[in-house]
Amino acid sequence: AKSDGRSCFRFFDEKLQPSIEFKASLENDLRDAIFDRDIIPYFQPQVNHRHELIGAEILLRWQHPKHGMISPAEFIPIAEDSDIIHRIGTEVLQSACKQLAIWQNNPETAHLVLSVNISARQFMQKNFVETVLSSIQIYHCSGSRLRLEITESLMLKNINELATKIEKLRSYGITLSLDDFGTGYSSLSILRSFPLDEIKIDKSFVDHMLENANDAHIIRTVINMSNHMGMTVIAEGVETEAQEAFLAENGCLNYQGYLFGKPMPLDDFSDYIKKPLS
Ligand code: C2E
Ligand code: CA
Ligand code: CA
Ligand code: CA
Repeated sequence: AKSDGRSCFRFFDEKLQPSIEFKASLENDLRDAIFDRDIIPYFQPQVNHRHELIGAEILLRWQHPKHGMISPAEFIPIAEDSDIIHRIGTEVLQSACKQLAIWQNNPETAHLVLSVNISARQFMQKNFVETVLSSIQIYHCSGSRLRLEITESLMLKNINELATKIEKLRSYGITLSLDDFGTGYSSLSILRSFPLDEIKIDKSFVDHMLENANDAHIIRTVINMSNHMGMTVIAEGVETEAQEAFLAENGCLNYQGYLFGKPMPLDDFSDYIKKPLS
């Protein structure tokens, strides 16, 4: 085990796989984990070029009773390998809708959009759209403040079914964001095939765009394309003012990253809402 520098515990990396027994024991613990007590939604701010808060992405943290904080990069894949992802996925959606309903009652927070990560396996579940719509109905929140972050891994699945689901969700005002843009091989084909609302530039491009000319070209091209196709574009992993300046100069006007705030528990995020950035 090693620390990954984000105050989360890592049990394995690319080279070192966890033992099958250990993975099975984590899977068992995950099955018993209680949402909002062991598995906690964190909120990472999203801001525009005037540094106004526009919303947040929900990122889960697992407070394991024995092993401490476990990163979603570790436990989401375990959840995705079983049916646990369906329960966790539904709970995150409900937690988002509950929070949106609270924000919508206050004119100062009514505009905030919450982004929720959706696993391919979760999205392709037969009653996924119904799960989303019932979360909205239970809490009476507006669909237009809920954003679903999907990845191109969905392209490997049934295309017709995918199109029907995307259309249905969008008819309720729910927006879709293409996460991890450019990290796989089919980012462009997903854009050709489906109407999406937002492209999220992956942190790996933002990390290197100031030194690597190719990454800079790719980012400029993605921003241009998004603007021409009527999609908004947000950059993830923005850590420095120099990165923000480069993105702004090239027409990317929305940002998420440590420069503006790390993922934080709801209490801290509520304080964050009250004291806007300068
Ligand atoms: P992601 O969706 O690509 O999320 C972005 C990751 O970048 C998050 O890692 C976030 O904490 C991190 N990040 C954001 N800004 C910065 C920055 O400026 N510097 C650095 N160093 N990191 C930054 P995190 O929270 O560890 O989440 C990892 C992945 O776990 C997410 O990647 C997402 O794929 C998955 N995940 C998290 N919550 C959920 C969930 O509720 N459902 C599903 N299906 N997946 C989730
Ligand atoms: Ca995401
Ligand atoms: Ca990413
Ligand atoms: Ca991801």
